[in-house]
Amino acid sequence: MKTGRFYDREKKIEFFGIIEGEKVRQIADFDKPDITEEWELAKLEVLTPVMPKKIIAVGLNYKRHAEEMKLPIPDEPVLFLKPHTAALPHKGVIRYPEMSSRVDYEAELGIVIAKGGRNIPEAETDKYILGFTAFNDVTARDLQKIDGQWARAKGFDTFAPFGPYVETDLDPSDLPLAAVLNGRTIQSSRTSDMIFSVPFLVSFISRVMTLEPGDVIATGTPEGIGPMERGDEIIIRIEGLTDLVNIIR
Ligand code: MG
Repeated sequence: MKTGRFYDREKKIEFFGIIEGEKVRQIADFDKPDITEEWELAKLEVLTPVMPKKIIAVGLNYKRHAEEMKLPIPDEPVLFLKPHTAALPHKGVIRYPEMSSRVDYEAELGIVIAKGGRNIPEAETDKYILGFTAFNDVTARDLQKIDGQWARAKGFDTFAPFGPYVETDLDPSDLPLAAVLNGRTIQSSRTSDMIFSVPFLVSFISRVMTLEPGDVIATGTPEGIGPMERGDEIIIRIEGLTDLVNIIR
C-alpha cells in the first residue's frame, strides 16, 4: 500500500490518502485506511506523507561511506535531530541559505513510524513501522565543519525533503538507492551496506527517546556525497519507492 498526504486547491482541503493507480482514496489518518472519498491524483498537490514531530537521523551508517570519510566504523549509531520545520515535500524547493557556500545532497532510506513506543525490542519493530520513503538529508557541509555539531548545518528550513509517499509493503534490507543530480547518477549503493539495520535502529532510538506516530528516521547515506548548485534538480531514487524530486534555488 502506498499512502500520502495531499492538498486540493479548489476545495482547499488537506487529507491523507491511499494511491491506487491514477486515483487517491481519502482516509481518516495516515494509519487508518477507512476510505471516505475518491480523488484524481493528477489534480492534487503532494504534501509530505506525514507531519513528523521529530526527524531523527543517523550520522554514519554505510561501510563504504565511513571509508570515504576516512572514519572508523562506529560501535553504536551516531544520532542527530533535524527539526520538523525542515520538512519539504516532493517537488518542493530546497532554499540555498545565504550563510553557506556548500550544500550537499545525501540519499537516504526514511523509516516512517506508525505507532509510538519506547524500549521497543528489535524483533517487534515491524509493528511500529508504517513503511518507507525516500529522504534527502540536505547538509550545509561548510557549516557542519565550522560548528562541530550539526544543528545549523542540517536544520535549515527545507533541508529535510522526503516522500512523495510511504510504501507499507517493502523489505528494506537490500534495496538499491541512488541520488541523481541533473540526470546523472552521483550516488549508487544498496541498503545492505548499512552498518546498523532498520530493526536495530528503531529499537536503539526507542531506547533513547519516545517514538511517536508520524516520526521519521533517516537511516544514513552511502558513499558519493557531493554538492548541489542553485538551479539543480536532485532525485532520490530507491527501488520499490516513487522518486523524490526537488530543485534547489
Ligand atoms: Mg545523512
